[in-house]
Amino acid sequence: MFRISQFMQEIAAPTALGSVRKPPGPVVIWNLIRRCNLTCKHCYSISADKDFAGELSTAEVYAVMDQLKAFRVPALILSGGEPLLRPDIFEISARAKSMGFFTALSSNGTLIDAVMCEKIRVVGYDYVGVSLDGLGATHDKFRRMQGAFDKSLAGIRLCRDAGLKVGVRYTMTQDNHQDLPGLLKLVEDEGIDRFYFSHLNYAGRGNKNRKDDALYQMTRNAMDLLFDTCWEYQQRGLQKEFTTGNNDADGVYLLYWLQRRFPDRVEHIRAKLRQWGGNSSGVNVANIDNLGKVHPDTMWWHYSLGDVRERAFADIWNDVSDPLMAGLKARPRKVGGRCGACAHFDICGGNTRVRAQQLTGDAWAEDPGCYLSDEEIGLA
Ligand code: SF4
Repeated sequence: MFRISQFMQEIAAPTALGSVRKPPGPVVIWNLIRRCNLTCKHCYSISADKDFAGELSTAEVYAVMDQLKAFRVPALILSGGEPLLRPDIFEISARAKSMGFFTALSSNGTLIDAVMCEKIRVVGYDYVGVSLDGLGATHDKFRRMQGAFDKSLAGIRLCRDAGLKVGVRYTMTQDNHQDLPGLLKLVEDEGIDRFYFSHLNYAGRGNKNRKDDALYQMTRNAMDLLFDTCWEYQQRGLQKEFTTGNNDADGVYLLYWLQRRFPDRVEHIRAKLRQWGGNSSGVNVANIDNLGKVHPDTMWWHYSLGDVRERAFADIWNDVSDPLMAGLKARPRKVGGRCGACAHFDICGGNTRVRAQQLTGDAWAEDPGCYLSDEEIGLA
């Protein structure tokens, strides 16, 4: 995850480098249920509105929570499917809160009416994230449900008015990129606390002509807009968090934005970006699916590191006899192609390994989703 607003703050008021703070354990994104009332186009968990066999019981979830606490996991992001469809979601969530986890709910928002919102408020989630794929009809088309946008927005408003910290999660594609400016305006007009921009796990078209590729250009335009908007908010004193996910080249791209806007800050931010270090799947981020299988992040559902029903989470997570875990935990990671030769590898960390694996079969090949030109990565 790349925290744009933190870097904007750093541009406005630079702080000393200091030492790197290592998180005590990984943040766990936990897909507690695969059932969902929607069937979205880009769903990574391929959910449906039916029960899936073999999901962790309440007692099993509690046992894993105890393990996660002992492993010093700081945060649980409770997700699905649609987590609100799990009958015990509020018991699990209340227990997570009482155990001291930062507890977040990741929902499609359509089920959050006044009654549901009150239950959410009582739990006191630290954060409620709702996915919006665009405005009105765009969102409804992606979610394959007429009126989904209105329902999700109503849910966001209820949570906001209940005093909860709320955010919008948006995954950009060719079919909804035109709605990004409107969504940013919505975030401001509605007083929404956070905007999470997720890059599509787009595999690109190889190495040639990155600057001319329409999708790469679309990404660059989106990043420019996010940086400009976030900086403007910073200047106006609007407290909003902007973050991105699924493309760690964003940190490098920020340097090129800085070169145009604040060249005197480039070296300071470069040093801060090195401390951030780019991709942390399998290190600071973990995923547990509805069946109890552990993955390096949510995009790795086709690769199981182990099953919490059979082994303790800590044993699975620390087991570097698994070749993927060994590679992800290596510092620096050994990545080939243009990532291996990239002048900014120490910032980006070679980006998203699952994209390389899905396109080439080799998890250690260059990331085909890099939208920077050869000149920009020091190759030309
Ligand atoms: S070439 Fe690879 S390491 Fe360099 S910025 Fe692009 S994705 Fe990151």
